[in-house]
Amino acid sequence: YYNENTILYFDGEYLKATEAKIDLYGQSLHYGYAVFEGIRAYKTEKGEVKIFKAMEHFDRFKRSCELIHIPYNYNNEELVAACYKVLELNNMEEAYIRPLMICPPNMTLKAASESHLLICAWEWGAYLGEKLLRVMTSSYQRPNPKAFQIESKSSGLYVNSILASQEAKQNGYDEALLLDINGNVAEGPGANIFFEKNGKLFTPPPGNILPGITRATVIELARELGIPLEEKLFTIEELKQAESVFYCGTAAEVIGWDSLDGQTFPKPWTESLGKLLQQAYKAKVLEKEFKREAKVA
Ligand code: PMP
Repeated sequence: YYNENTILYFDGEYLKATEAKIDLYGQSLHYGYAVFEGIRAYKTEKGEVKIFKAMEHFDRFKRSCELIHIPYNYNNEELVAACYKVLELNNMEEAYIRPLMICPPNMTLKAASESHLLICAWEWGAYLGEKLLRVMTSSYQRPNPKAFQIESKSSGLYVNSILASQEAKQNGYDEALLLDINGNVAEGPGANIFFEKNGKLFTPPPGNILPGITRATVIELARELGIPLEEKLFTIEELKQAESVFYCGTAAEVIGWDSLDGQTFPKPWTESLGKLLQQAYKAKVLEKEFKREAKVA
C-alpha cells in the first residue's frame, strides 16, 4: 500500500507515509471508533484524472462521522482538493483513495471532542477480482441496526465484514453474503447486491445495508437504460431462484456471481443485465459514451 516515497495527507499537511505517526493510546485504535471512506479515481477517456462521485463520498463521510459523534470540521471542496493533491504528489492516475477520521487518546467511552484526518491512496485492481464469484451464505448476520449506526461507515463495523469474508474463504468460496437480523438478504462484506429475474432487477432497500454510492449509480444507470428495478426485501430462497446476481461497490465495481452455496445461476453472465450495467458503469467512470447493445434483452 505504501513505500518510502509515498505521501499522505494528515491534518492539513502532506507527509511521508513512513514518517507520519499516530498515537497508540487513540480511542479509534482501542475501540474501532473511527470512520472511513473508499473512493476511486479514474483516468477518463479524455486523459484527465477524475475522482468518481467525490461529493457523494464526502457527504457520506460527514454523515458517518455525525451519526457516531465524531467531530467533523471540513467542507467537501477542501477534502476533494486534498485528494487530488495526494494523487498528484504520488504520481497516481487510477487509484483507490482512503480518507480515515480518527480520534485522539482517550480510554473512556465518551464521544470524541476532537478528530484527525488521514487521506492516503494506493493503486488497487478490482477488489474481488474479475472472475465470477462463488459466494457462500454467511453464518454471520449484518449488525442489528438497533445496536449500531449501521449507515455510518465506521471502522468497528468492519470486524463483522472480516469475519464473514474469512469464513467464506475458509470454506473455499470467494466471498460471503450476509443476511439481516430478520433473515432477509442484506449485502456482502464490502458490496451491495442486485439480482435479475424476468427482465427486472431487485436490490434490498436501505435499512439493513450500507447505502452504497455504486448501488445508487447502478440504480441511476438502470433508469437511464430503461431497466425496471425494484428495491425490496427478499430471502435466500428467492435469491436462489434468480437468473443472475451481482455485487457492486467502489472497490469491487460491478462483479457477477457464479454461484451461491454451490448452486449456479442459469443466465450466462455475458447475457445478463449485470454485464450490461458493468459495462455502463465502466463507461460512466471513464466518462465514455455508452450505448445499450440490442442483443441484451
Ligand atoms: N456495503 C458495505 C458493507 C461496504 O463496505 C461497501 C463499500 N463501501 C458497500 C456496501 C458499497 O458501497 P460503495 O458503493 O459506496 O463503495
